[in-house]
Amino acid sequence: MRALTIDAHGGLEQLRFRSDVAEPEVSAPTDVRVRLRAAALNHIDLWTVLGVPGVKLVPPWILGSDGMGVIDAVGAGVTRVTVGDTVLINPGVSCRNCEYCLSGDNPLCLKFGVLGEHRPGTLAEFIVIPEANVRTVPASTSPESGAAISLAALTAWRMCVTKARVGPEDDVLIWGIGGGVAQMALAICKARGARTWVTSGSEGKLERARSLGADVLLRHGPGIDIGKEIRAQTGKRGVTVVVDTVGTATWSQSLGALGRRGRLVTSGGTSGHLLETDVRRLFWNQWSIMGSTMGSDAEYDAVVGEFLAGRLTPVVDSVHTLERSADAMARLENAERFGKVVVRIS
Ligand SMILES: [Zn+2]
Repeated sequence: MRALTIDAHGGLEQLRFRSDVAEPEVSAPTDVRVRLRAAALNHIDLWTVLGVPGVKLVPPWILGSDGMGVIDAVGAGVTRVTVGDTVLINPGVSCRNCEYCLSGDNPLCLKFGVLGEHRPGTLAEFIVIPEANVRTVPASTSPESGAAISLAALTAWRMCVTKARVGPEDDVLIWGIGGGVAQMALAICKARGARTWVTSGSEGKLERARSLGADVLLRHGPGIDIGKEIRAQTGKRGVTVVVDTVGTATWSQSLGALGRRGRLVTSGGTSGHLLETDVRRLFWNQWSIMGSTMGSDAEYDAVVGEFLAGRLTPVVDSVHTLERSADAMARLENAERFGKVVVRIS
């Protein structure tokens, strides 16, 4: 089958489109095989190419976490879906047996893995995954939207709803509104009645964010301190919630923007992983700093429900073919990108 693969870690020069990858077969009774219609890219794909410590790669390694397709084969024990169903794919695979899974906290599973990073990914014609990782949607669902929704919306949902518990009384700072998680966080926070403050290095992206419902637009960049700007605009009160996936480059400004009793939630560090926090400000302001990764089965059900109701729709930046999916990976890092990079497969 056709797939975008790597044989070794490194830069984007490692990407290799192949048409001779072995088709995966259903072996476990609770597995399903999906013929992919589309896949979507995330920052995690770039990290996988670079190499994540402790993650072993068996070449040819298939990239890609997000996808949508049609069930093509099912194991003998599959009960919830059938051949021909159109499905969205939850990229997080958990054992559903350990204490974390049983308490409904799948992303903390002792065997947690992400498609494309710990298991073969979605940038291929077929993928075999557990039945529990798919959700049936109408066959008329847009493959581009369906492929682009899962990872970003699930991540944003856990961050904003489960962790930060955003509500109408909140002011939420969301960094880098060109990104998929940030756009989903904006939609979720708006739907919950919060006031949203969004940043971008580009005026054009800020204007587009306004059309998505952002309340306050902030240009970030060299020489600009977003924390100071927000304190100036709020009579020194700051915001109540910060959604930060950028890490090193934004951390001190995020804390500068955070008011008393503020909650900061992070799910990544696209600019770097090491952060500096003054403990005196942490305890004096009684901040809650929270980490978040992916989401649970229940959170995925909620996200798919919102998607099907039309309340959570990903912005698609561009659509590429599987043959040219190396270009799609390069587009992920392009400063012009606004929203999800999608790969059409069939
Ligand atoms: Zn588990």
